[in-house]
Amino acid sequence: MKALFKSKSQRGLELLDVEKPSPKKGEVLVKVKAASICGTDLHIYEWNEWAQNRIKPPLIAGHEVAGEIVELGEGVKGFGKGDLVSAETHVYCGKCFQCLSGNRHVCETMKIFGVDIDGVFAEYAVIPAQNAWKNPKGMKPEIAAIQEPFGNAVHSVFAGGDRIDGSTVLITGAGPIGCFAAGIAKAAGAKKVIVSDLNDFRLSLAGKMKADILVNAQNENLAECVKKETNGRGADIFIEMSGSGAALNDGLKSLRVGGRVSILGVFNKPVALDVTNDIVFKYARIFGINGRLIFDTWKKTSELINKKLVDPSPVITHRFPLKDFEEGFSLLEHGKAGKVVLVP
Ligand code: NAD
Ligand code: ZN
Repeated sequence: MKALFKSKSQRGLELLDVEKPSPKKGEVLVKVKAASICGTDLHIYEWNEWAQNRIKPPLIAGHEVAGEIVELGEGVKGFGKGDLVSAETHVYCGKCFQCLSGNRHVCETMKIFGVDIDGVFAEYAVIPAQNAWKNPKGMKPEIAAIQEPFGNAVHSVFAGGDRIDGSTVLITGAGPIGCFAAGIAKAAGAKKVIVSDLNDFRLSLAGKMKADILVNAQNENLAECVKKETNGRGADIFIEMSGSGAALNDGLKSLRVGGRVSILGVFNKPVALDVTNDIVFKYARIFGINGRLIFDTWKKTSELINKKLVDPSPVITHRFPLKDFEEGFSLLEHGKAGKVVLVP
């Protein structure tokens, strides 16, 4: 089969011919129908410092996937050939302290597809059945694939259990996950969703996801805009989805007293914050968000998408055959795409 490999410790990926894998005990083999590119894949492609420290080539890249089951490994129950499944990409052990206390998404020995183990940018991929999510018949594969990042947004929006309806939600970063979060917050009844980015194309995608106010933080002072939109009070909920220290600071300054914060963004270096004024005296409640709750987040995600409460499709801006992966990575590198889907 054809598979997109990180084969050497250098920039880029290589399309190679390799043997089709077979499912071991407890695994399913899927024929990949759609696999979307994530920021992490771009880091691996660019071979940045994080990737150099984490990835051990050779490895098949990619983790966001939807595929049709073509073979079941020994002992797999609850799935059948022809099922369209997506994958929870955090492969958990089920035995450690975190797994046993209901936090499988932060398993102590967690392995991630396309990062620690072979991924899904290939014609076929093996998925442990414990990580497979069965989709309803007829679901579009590209929508099934993007449920994984959409789930990050679901986890971030609903963390803490606060009411979303009637609230003002600020999202920094209009990448695919920030755009999904905008749609989710609106579907949950947010009165006003404000999204900031530095890239107007990406802000336009947030607009298509029904964000009310778009702020280019390069030209405007975010905290001032948010105060103006909230009668001087600030946003009830702030969701950080850019991984920029400037955005985190802007967002905290835009938060109302007693507001809630979810931080999903991953920062490439430590960030300085005004903890006293922007967190302590602000009485802020802050949640670090990692992955998706297994499988609570998936249930919520599936419901939002399949009951058509949120249409994620405006975020998917490009589709390419697997062999044209370079075009997809190049668009992402230049900030000219939302989600890019590869079809083997
Ligand atoms: P992305 O990189 O596609 O989008 C980030 C966006 O933030 C870009 O559009 C960029 O222009 C914008 N941005 C940069 N500086 C900004 C600033 N100062 N103000 C406002 N916007 C700014 O990322 P994505 O795939 O949508 O993911 C969002 C973030 O979540 C990333 O940091 C990613 O690494 C992280 N992430 C975390 C998890 C987790 O489990 N914690 C999972 C997936 C992704
Ligand atoms: Zn575990």
